[in-house]
Amino acid sequence: MKKVFIYFFAFLFLCFILPALLTKAEVSTSSGANEVVEENKEITSEEYIYNQYGTIRLLHTDTNTVEEVALDEYLCNVVSAEMPVDFEKEALKAQAIVARTYTIYKINNKKHDNADICDNSNCCQAWISKEDRLARWDGDKEEKWNKIEECVNETKGKIITYNNQPINAFFHSNSGGKTELPVDVWGGGSNMPYLQVVETLGEDGYAQYNSEVELTNEEILEKLKEKYRDIQIDFDNEEDIKVLEYTSSGRVKTIKFGNHEISGTEARSILGLRSTNFEIIKEEGKIKFIVKGYGHGVGMSQTGADSMAKNGSTAEEIIHHFYIGVEIKDVNSL
Ligand SMILES: [Zn+2]
Repeated sequence: MKKVFIYFFAFLFLCFILPALLTKAEVSTSSGANEVVEENKEITSEEYIYNQYGTIRLLHTDTNTVEEVALDEYLCNVVSAEMPVDFEKEALKAQAIVARTYTIYKINNKKHDNADICDNSNCCQAWISKEDRLARWDGDKEEKWNKIEECVNETKGKIITYNNQPINAFFHSNSGGKTELPVDVWGGGSNMPYLQVVETLGEDGYAQYNSEVELTNEEILEKLKEKYRDIQIDFDNEEDIKVLEYTSSGRVKTIKFGNHEISGTEARSILGLRSTNFEIIKEEGKIKFIVKGYGHGVGMSQTGADSMAKNGSTAEEIIHHFYIGVEIKDVNSL
């Protein structure tokens, strides 16, 4: 009889009590691990306290509401919207420093009445909520978010300066091998000597490097007519469509379309090209535009940054490559 009881309790122990104990042990281990992570996070964020610029007023353009957010929290949303998370960590850290600089610059050079910056990439800087970002990522979403947070935290307080002032830190997707002068994109005189033409190796390894747009002669005429109503092009005349001038980086500066001469940046926008670095291939009844690079080409190339990081460059080296004569400083030291 005693033996039956022993077997019965052994059975109970194996079936119910032991699994319960093991589960509890697992749970407590994982929550212990979380606590360690939380502690580390706190230590990191306490290393740098912003004197000013700690919070920013962010305008959400879709709802026209202004939200007050912590600067580095905002930067996680920006970096994750502006650069692919699978890029090298040093490239993402460079992007975090660039985005922080751009934000501080915007705070000091306001475009909006009641806000420091807005969430529209065509106006200020791209931004995506954490919820939307995670929903659009595949795989281990939390791990990806942690990578972004690490890049922002590890560069806390760092901004790019020229003459002790935050720079206008332009950036773009792919320079096609060579960056562009701001004067050749937006005109005017340049008061940004830190933005020069620089070459970067390895950008041709990215999908953003090559693209093509094929348009029929009628489509080209139709698109140009929206801006230039009196435009006339003789597509059989070799001289009627041709590049008249190139910028110092080799992009199209001026192009002739029949009776009009237009800038490369305008042609890019009207024809829907990824950059002003294009070649014209005339074919029967149509024109093929072979395009190199993606974006205006000024400042840091994001794919160039990733390519440099793959070859061992640090975030600071990447920044010094794309912005000439600058310093990387703590924002509190300004
Ligand atoms: Zn804006």
